[in-house]
This record gives sequence, structure tokens and C-alpha cells, in this order.
Amino acid sequence: MSPARPTVQVIGRRLEPADHRLRDFLTRADQPYDFYEPDSPEALDLLGRHAIAEARLPVVIDGDQVFNGATIEALAEAWGGFQPPARAHYDLAIVGAGPAGLGAAVYAASDGLSTIVFERDIPGGQASHTSMIENFFGFPDGIEGAHLARMAARQAERFGAELILLRGVTGGHWDDETRWHFELAGDVEVTADVAVAAPGMEWRRLDVEGLDELLDRGVYYGAGRSEAATCTGDDVVVVGAGNSAGQAVMSFADAGARVTMVVRGDVLGRTMSGYLVDRIGEHPGIDVRLRTQVREVHADHERLRAVTIEDAAGAVERRPADGLFLCIGGEPRTGWADAAGVRLDRAGYVLTGPDLLEAGNRPEGWPLDRDPLALETSVPGLFAAGDVRSGSTKRVAGAVGEGAMAVALAHRRLAELAAAV
Ligand SMILES: Cc1cc2nc3c(=O)[nH]c(=O)nc-3n(C[C@H](O)[C@H](O)[C@H](O)COP(=O)(O)OP(=O)(O)OC[C@H]3O[C@@H](n4cnc5c(N)ncnc54)[C@H](O)[C@@H]3O)c2cc1C
Repeated sequence: MSPARPTVQVIGRRLEPADHRLRDFLTRADQPYDFYEPDSPEALDLLGRHAIAEARLPVVIDGDQVFNGATIEALAEAWGGFQPPARAHYDLAIVGAGPAGLGAAVYAASDGLSTIVFERDIPGGQASHTSMIENFFGFPDGIEGAHLARMAARQAERFGAELILLRGVTGGHWDDETRWHFELAGDVEVTADVAVAAPGMEWRRLDVEGLDELLDRGVYYGAGRSEAATCTGDDVVVVGAGNSAGQAVMSFADAGARVTMVVRGDVLGRTMSGYLVDRIGEHPGIDVRLRTQVREVHADHERLRAVTIEDAAGAVERRPADGLFLCIGGEPRTGWADAAGVRLDRAGYVLTGPDLLEAGNRPEGWPLDRDPLALETSVPGLFAAGDVRSGSTKRVAGAVGEGAMAVALAHRRLAELAAAV
């Protein structure tokens, strides 16, 4: 799928879930596009020029090629993003192509390891939702998360790593204590000598009645990168107080939306970087409501129209809302860990290295005559990197660094396996 293609044109309805998912995909894949509502003069002109009388929305026009009723899968297929694995066995398999998985892929492939990366979505993970990363080493003016992810994926591919996109790992097991088996959708199985688990986090859900029915119809989890471009003059509510909420608030306000920021705590700076707190405080288009929560959502014709918020004193207020963006943090994706025998901490993050030792003793069932390596899980040869790991910094630079470090440790495990043969 890389490098990006010249700008494509998209004709669709802004608040139609399938159309939204397509725009979100293009935005996060760092693919430039123009977006037009179907009754706009530009859309009518494009449909006429390409002689599409009965257009099935969304339509994507890529040069001479027209995708009627376009889907993410159809675009990925046409743009070369759906290659099957080239081999049956690899030195290293990586689950997740967020910053940690991509970091591992770049270093492993450049070290000459045969490397495969499984990604159920597109590369970038949470970073692909980030409008501007300003604290990543080497980019004094910041870098868009989607752009960073695309460049990292290209770099990994250039060194020979295989990226299997839009296909998640559905199961796996450890065979003979020496070989990992991964099952992918479509009955594909791949094995590897060592593995890095970098599945990151998923959004924490907000429990408000009727919210799920409005998902992608005005309610969104995440910072709503694809929506920011079309929200001028809208009323937008952002829930959360971390950096992701802060970035979302700034990008909507800069795009000309009237933004209400709903924060459960009593200060803004507890989990948000100081530079964002300062910018939010100075922006005239942002109304910060501390000690406040969203209690109800109100819809009309299946579209979000308003939200009811309540402050700590019990005062309720109904506010108009064209968009509600939920940036209330995440939970580690570790539903797979129990079956794999991987130990977690109390909050559900993967334990690694010294954190696995109890009073200096190795974890129960640990089969080797050495302690687990620094990023090694309770299963030898399976390393964890990035946000999913207990004690990680939950930052892009930290995730990339852990990916690279996991590869250095994987070499030690590979040497151990080679010596045992
Ligand atoms: C909106 C937002 C803004 C942020 N801003 C900043 C910032 O400015 N600076 C900063 O340093 N950090 C920022 N962060 C945090 C940063 O993005 C994360 O710390 C970082 O992305 C963690 O990387 P990761 O690779 O560990 O996990 P993730 O980014 O969560 O990536 C995990 C990947 O694994 C994939 N995956 C999961 N399960 C499977 C499976 N079974 N099979 C295949 N693939 C799977 C997922 O689809 C995902 O792509 C921000 C986060 C958000 C959400």
C-alpha cells in the first residue's frame, strides 16, 4: 500500500457509518483525498465526467479507476495491501503494527531476520489517530501520526519485512517450546521461532444509554482526525483529559468548531502535557467543563443532535452536538494472554522480565535454566513491547524503543535455540 497515491476523490455522505469508515481509513493511511457530498457541484461534475449514472456510495475515483460502493477491502486489494504471507516459517513474527510493532519490524528486518508483521487494521495503531505528535525525537515541528506510520511501514518493507494488513491473528499456540504457530483469518497458518506481542490498547467504552447506536453517526471513539476537516461551524463535544483529548480539542477548535471539553476531574494538567494545557487555555473556541460528565445523548433521524452533561453539583445542561468524541483512555488488548500462558499484572498488562520474579523466584512453569530476559513474557521466546506491556511509558518513542529492544533480546533467544539443535 505504500507509497501513497496521488490525491483520490471520495463522494459520500458525511454521517453514513460506512462512508465515515472509508474516510477514516484514508486519513489514517495518510492517503490524500478530496471529499464531496453527493449533491455538491463537484460531486455531480465528477459523476458526470466518469459517466456513473447509478452511483453506489461511497464512490472513490483514483485517476481513471472508479470504485462504486467502495470498501476498505476493495481499495486495499487494488492498492496491493492484501498480499498473503510469502513463506510458511519466519525467524520473527510480530503481532501489531503500531509504533512498537513497526519499531521491531524495522530493526529485525535490517538485522537480516526473516520478519512478518500481522496487523488487523492498517499500520500505525493509536499513532494513526494522532493529528500531530510533537514529542517524538527528531521532529521539532511535530509529525502527523499517520505520516510517521506510513514512513515506518515503508522502511520496514524496504528492509524486507512482510506486512500482512487488515488480517488479525485469530489464534496461536506454542509448539514443542521452540516454535510459534499463528492462525490468521482465511485459514492461513504461519510459524516463527520467536515472537513479539505488540497489540497495544483499545478504547475504553463510555456507558451511556443509546450511545452505541450512534457510533459513526456523530459519536466516535478517538480523536476524530477525519472529522476535523469537515467540522467548521459545528458544535463538538470531546470527553477526556489526556493528550489524545487535548489534541482532539485543539484540532477541532483550529478547524473552526465550537468545542466543549468535558473533564471528569478537577484539573486539566493531571494527565495532559503542559503545552496542550496552555494552548487550550488560550483558545477562545474551547469551553472546558471540569468535574462534569456526559449523562445522555439525543438523536434525531439516527444522528446525534445534543448531549446532556452534569456537573459535580448535579446541575444538568443540554448542549447541541454535531459530534461527540470519546478519548477516555484505553485498556490493554490481552484477551489472548490467558490461553497462551502469559502472565498479566492486576490491571491486565503483560508482565515481563524482572517483574515476573516473585521473591527472586522464576514464574511457575518457567522451563529454562535462566531468568526471563528484560522484555520476555512468562513464555520463553515471546516478547512484549509497547503499551500492552506492564510498566511501559505509553508514548510513541517508548513503544518504538521497546520494539527495537525486543529484537535485540530475540537474537539472544534465537542463539539459544540454535545452540540447542
Ligand atoms: C489520539 C492519541 C494521541 C496520542 N498522542 C501522543 C503523542 O503526542 N505523543 C506520544 O508519545 N504518544 C501519544 N499517544 C500514545 C501513543 O500513540 C501510544 O503510546 C503508541 O501508539 C503505543 O504503540 P503500540 O505499538 O504499543 O500500540 P498501538 O498503537 O495500540 O498499536 C497496536 C496495534 O496492534 C494491532 N493489533 C491488536 N491486536 C491485533 C491482532 N490480534 N492481530 C493483529 N494486529 C493486532 C492494532 O490494530 C494496532 O494497530 C497518543 C495516543 C492517542 C490514542
